Parts: sequence; structure tokens; C-alpha cells
Amino acid sequence: MTASIYPPADRAWLDVDLDALRHNVRQLRAHAGVPLVVMVKADAYGVGAVTVSRALGVPFDGSPATAEAPWGLGIATLDEAAALRDAGCRARILCLTPILPTELARALLLGVRPALHRAADIAAWAALGQPHGGRPYHLAIDTGMARAGVRWDQTDTLRESVRAHPPEGVFTHFHSADDDLDSRDEQDARFVDALLALGDALPAAILRHSDNSAGIASRTRQSPGALARPGIAVYGGMFSIPLGLQQVVHLRARVVDLREVAIGETVSYGATWTAARPSRIATISAGYGDGYRRHLSNRGEVLLGGLHCPVVGRVTMDMVMVDVTNVPCAIGDVATLLGTDGTATLSTEHVAEVAGLSPYELLVGLALRVPSRAISSSPE
Ligand SMILES: *Cc1c(COP(=O)(O)O)cnc(C)c1O
Repeated sequence: MTASIYPPADRAWLDVDLDALRHNVRQLRAHAGVPLVVMVKADAYGVGAVTVSRALGVPFDGSPATAEAPWGLGIATLDEAAALRDAGCRARILCLTPILPTELARALLLGVRPALHRAADIAAWAALGQPHGGRPYHLAIDTGMARAGVRWDQTDTLRESVRAHPPEGVFTHFHSADDDLDSRDEQDARFVDALLALGDALPAAILRHSDNSAGIASRTRQSPGALARPGIAVYGGMFSIPLGLQQVVHLRARVVDLREVAIGETVSYGATWTAARPSRIATISAGYGDGYRRHLSNRGEVLLGGLHCPVVGRVTMDMVMVDVTNVPCAIGDVATLLGTDGTATLSTEHVAEVAGLSPYELLVGLALRVPSRAISSSPE
């Protein structure tokens, strides 16, 4: 990366590659074989929910849905839905986490499809000011995650409320589809049992869904049901190689200082790194206050001019130091702390592993302080 192509004021920022994002959604759609509910919770895993939603072509005021638009968007809190609606988003929005009865009226106002699984909530939702009764909701079934939803072996208790107020969809969620196919199969089977117990109380055209990113990646054939709900894979955070996904997020920061250190001298807090040879050290203007985690101290790598430079000493809140003894660089150059520079890539999966984090936590943490810019990787 040369400094000149970036605006001079930027200390550190995220480049969000919207072409890569769309590529990933196309790959996931093709692999799943069913329409998608793209998860944009936690501000689209730190990537930016409004930016992501617009890029995916869901309808916004003044711009109709594109042919490639996903079926809908998935969120976890009503404030997230409000932020999307305030920006003019008119997509179907599904709230996959349980909400309290006191929140149902707001969900209705926001045009959110809640996940419900208690008879009283289903009745309250149906009664909310509807002349013809009911707005769409999705029935949540717990098949072993033990987090939310009606237990798979107790769905018979909901038969009459479901018959009276039929849901638009019914879903479950996997706990280990990324590394345990037996557990996935068991949850698949429990889900089928749960639906059988509801029998003809469920509408024939009900939208059934279960696959998260790991679920999609785990299938040799298409995802079961009518929809799938990828999150992390959309953002290039997991399953990149098997699903042919691209890096979406690139964390950049500038070289803001350069110095020579002599043999025996140390770098950063705690003096955890000592020069074994005369070394040239670059100070990069991002630290754990920007989501570049402290655990990357003396472990991480940063790209400068497409070359790997090891992190030396502790990552500090606002800066990190790297060894550039053999790498030409100057004040103002742009370092890549995550993502691609030239032919080199520090993938989200790789950096998360080195940082001892899940890719989810790494991505979500990047939104702390740095601004995002949308970039386009396709040649103009
Ligand atoms: C977060 C979430 C997803 C997406 O999971 P990923 O692992 O990010 O693909 C899907 N469904 C539910 C219910 C979720 O909470």
C-alpha cells in the first residue's frame, strides 16, 4: 500500500470490501440452495449494518430490492432494527433472540418479525391492534442449544396457539455444526420430531430454517428447509477456504514513527521484547483501543508493502510496534493489520487464532474506534 492513495487525515480505518461481501453472499446462497436471511446483528459483526444491507440490495426508501437481495435480515435487538428502519430500510427483519412481552408493541411498530415460543406471547402478538389478527412471527425451537425457544420435546404444548395464530416460519439453531456432524444430525432429527408433534397445526407453507454459517458449510447437499441464516461467513470470518469466500474487512493504520534500537534495548510496556541485533522499529497508529488485541503482543504480524513484519513488544492502546529492519518503509505508509496488502493476506481466521479469539470477537471488536470506508475490489 502506498500512502498517496489514502486521504491524509486517516490514522486508522477499516476498508470494507463490498464486492467481496456480495461474492460471499452469492457463494453462500449457491451452497445453501435456499434464500438467505443475512445476519446483520451487532452492527453486521462490526462491519456496519446499514452499509452491508444496502450493499446486499435489500429494499430501501427510493431503491427497490435487487434481484440478488436476500430474503431478509437477521438482528438480535430492536434497537438494531430501529437503526435500519431509520436509515430507510424496508427489508423483512427477523429478530432471532427472545424479546420481552413489553417489547412486542415496538417490534410491531418497527415491522420486525419476532421469534416467539410462549403461548402467552403468541396470543399477545396476535392481539396487537390487528383487524385481521396477527403479523408474521417465527416459532423458535430449542433442539439442544439450551438458549432460547421451546424444547423440541415440548412443542405439543403449543399446538393450539400455533393453530390459532400460525407462524410464518419455524427455526432452530445449531451448537456445534462446525465440528460435530453427529450433533448436527441429532439436532436435525429433533427439529423434525418437534415439527411432527405440531402436525397439521403448522401451515403447510411454513418457512423452516436452521442453518447458520457452520450448518451451510457442513452440508454436502443443500440446506434443509426454506431459508438459511449465515452470519460470520458473509463477513469472510470463517469457512473461507471450503466455501470460496473472500476477505471483507481490512484494518489499516499508518506508520507514525520510526527508530533504530541497539542490541539489548527493549520495546514497549513491560520490556517484553529485547533487540537481538540492531533493529529498525516502526510505530503503527492502532492498538487494542482499535480492536487490535493485546494478545497479539510479540505474536502478531503486520503487512507493510506486502511484506510480513512481526509485532515486537506489547500492543498498547493506541499504537503497536513492528520490526521493519529488512522492510523499506517511511512515515505515513499504510500498514495492514488485518486483510490483504498486495499478494499477502492476514485472514480474519488466522489473526483471530493468533489472538486467541473467535473470529466473531475479533470482527465485532474492530468497530470500537476506527471509521469504516466502503471499497470495491472489482476492476472498474
Ligand atoms: C448469530 C446467529 C446466526 C448466524 O450465525 P453464524 O455462526 O454467524 O453464521 C444464525 N442464527 C441465529 C439464531 C443466530 O443467533
